[in-house]
Order: sequence, then structure tokens, then C-alpha cells
Amino acid sequence: MKVAVFSTKSYDRTFLTDANLADGDRHRFHFLEPRLNADTASLAGGASAVCAFVNDELNASALAALSKEGVRLVALRCAGFNHVDLNAAQQLNIAVARVPAYSPAAVAEHTVAIIMSLNRKIHRAYARVREGNFSLDGLLGFDLCGRTVGIIGTGKIGIAVARILRGFGCDVVANDPLPNAEFERIGGTYVTLPELLSMSDIITLHCPLTPATRHLINADAITATKPGVMLINTSRGGVADTKAIIAGLKSGAIGYLGLDVYEEEGDLFFEDLSEQMIQDDVFARLLTFPNVLITGHQAFFTAEAMTAIAATTIGNISSFEDHGRSEHQISVERLV
Ligand code: NAD
Repeated sequence: MKVAVFSTKSYDRTFLTDANLADGDRHRFHFLEPRLNADTASLAGGASAVCAFVNDELNASALAALSKEGVRLVALRCAGFNHVDLNAAQQLNIAVARVPAYSPAAVAEHTVAIIMSLNRKIHRAYARVREGNFSLDGLLGFDLCGRTVGIIGTGKIGIAVARILRGFGCDVVANDPLPNAEFERIGGTYVTLPELLSMSDIITLHCPLTPATRHLINADAITATKPGVMLINTSRGGVADTKAIIAGLKSGAIGYLGLDVYEEEGDLFFEDLSEQMIQDDVFARLLTFPNVLITGHQAFFTAEAMTAIAATTIGNISSFEDHGRSEHQISVERLV
């Protein structure tokens, strides 16, 4: 099948090419650097499938443009699908497939790396020591052992985070509309969201971005947290209201902030903008706080995860070609 791959980076090319070779070199890839949106969709001309990533815009007009080009499959090389208008895809008879699980450990380990770095101020210590400054002033941390961590969303990643933190001796509590018996088996306790907000020293977000979770962490939620709480978001930027978070950082209500995702990351992340002025004033304000650590949506980025993402993506394209349905096709009916 001919596949137009949008938002391509060198690593996408490498892992997808290897996975395709392992599957008998069945598919022909057209690697494209631009992000997919209504304006760039015509670049998919001649392809039956497109392969898209987290910041591609698969709204109704982009999907209509893809349909005109003859595209029948959107193969997402990611787990989240909040950026796809699934109803429009269904009306246009375009199948949408994703990679539901690749390496929960990759995201969970990065989440814990951010928690550890923020707590022990590794990002600041690294810069200081290189300047010959060995003072410890301002680097005081706290023991994770015995602290309470609130996990919002105990799916594959949330459970993996809980397991690591239990190993550190943390108490883990969680909120999820679909409780997972595994969480309680490893010693976690489900609580209501208000309880989680009020009892957690660290709150970490692992739910998908949906209409119900958009701005779940807003000004009211921040008011309900322990003073100086550590807030971590490696899920999707829209789950937290960035302006409310900035107010919380200024007042001290939020003592630490770790982000791997950002509401408006589409204009920033995955590109080298080091020679340009950042135009996003909200993001620029976040960068001014010493107790904020941001990574550019790299939690998934391990060799194991990239290998698994590419293999599942190729599997989705091959099963669609063979059977007219992808193995990990997203069904609109199951979402309602
Ligand atoms: P998953 O589907 O296994 O788990 C999501 C969990 O969130 C489910 O248990 C679900 O019931 C729960 N949930 C849904 N609505 C909720 C709500 N209102 N409150 C609390 N919990 C709720 O997904 P996963 O594989 O664990 O991934 C979680 C999210 O992480 C993805 O949706 C994606 O947005 C994000 N992610 C980020 C990266 C990254 O590189 N930063 C990589 C992969 C996934």
C-alpha cells in the first residue's frame, strides 16, 4: 500500500523502514516533513493511507481533503486520538487505527524522571556544577518514601507509574471512572477526585484528553490541592489549564511543575527553534519559573517504544490491506 507519512523525522524514517522490511517490504512510504492539516493534505495524493503523529490536525476539513485524494486509512503512530474527528472520519468512510500500547514503561519512567529531577533539582544542580558553583543553597529536596502520590487515570501508564512509586515506598491513591483491580493489588487505593487533590503531595496525570478531562486541572482544582503540590503532566496538554497553573505557580499553590506536554505544543514541539524568538507568551512565562521542568513530548521516545510503535503501525496498515479493517481500528460506537 502507498502510505504518506506526515511530520516525518529521521527517527520515524528509520524505525518505519525497518518495520516494513521485517514485514516483507510490502508498503511504499512517501516521507513528508510537513504537519498534516487541511492545507497540506493534498501532499498525500496517490496514497491510500496516511501515517500521522500527535500534532497533526485531523479535523473534518483535513479528513475531507484526504478523502478527495483517495485516502482510506489514517494510521496513527501514537496512542492518543484526541486530534482526530472520528465522526467525520466515519462519515467519509476513512478508517482510523492507532497504537494502543507500545511501552507504558517508557512514559512511566520519564514521568518518574521528571518527579525526581524536580524534587532534587537536578536540572539546576547540573547547570550550577558546570559553572563551578557547588553551593547547596536552594537545592533542598524531600524524601519520596512515605509521600502520597495521586494518579489521575490508572490505565497502562498510570499503573506502571504506580508500580515504580510503590517501589520508592510512596502511598499511591488514584481516581479513574474505570477502576483497575491491578492498582489495588499493588497496594493503591481509589479515592474521589476531591480527596485525591486534597491528600496528594504529588499529582500526576495519565488520563486521555477528552471533553470530560479538558482542563480537569483548573483554578478550582488547584485551590483544592495541598499548598506547594507537585503537578506532573505527561498525558496531554489540554488536561490542565495552563493559565490557571501559572497563577498557581505565582501564588505558591503549585510548588513544582513538570510537563512533557503543553496545550499549544503543536507550534513548538519536535522542532529546533533555538534561533527563533518564542512567540507563545504563556509558554515563555512557564520557562521563567525555577521550579518548572519541561520536556518536549519525549516521554515515549525510547528505542523499545519506537520499535513497537513502528511494528504496530505496519501491522495496522497490513491488516487493513488484507482484510479491510485494521487490527487496532478505533470504533466510534465504542467511544459513546
Ligand atoms: P489507557 O487508555 O491505558 O488509560 C487511560 C486511563 O484513563 C483509563 O483507565 C481511563 O479509564 C482513565 N480515564 C479516562 N477518563 C478519566 C477521567 N475523567 N479521570 C480519570 N481517569 C480517566 O491509556 P495509557 O496508555 O495509560 O495512556 C494515557 C495517556 O497518556 C494517553 O491518552 C496519551 O494522551 C498519553 N500519552 C503520552 C505520551 C507521551 O509521550 N507523553 C505517550 C503515550 C501516551
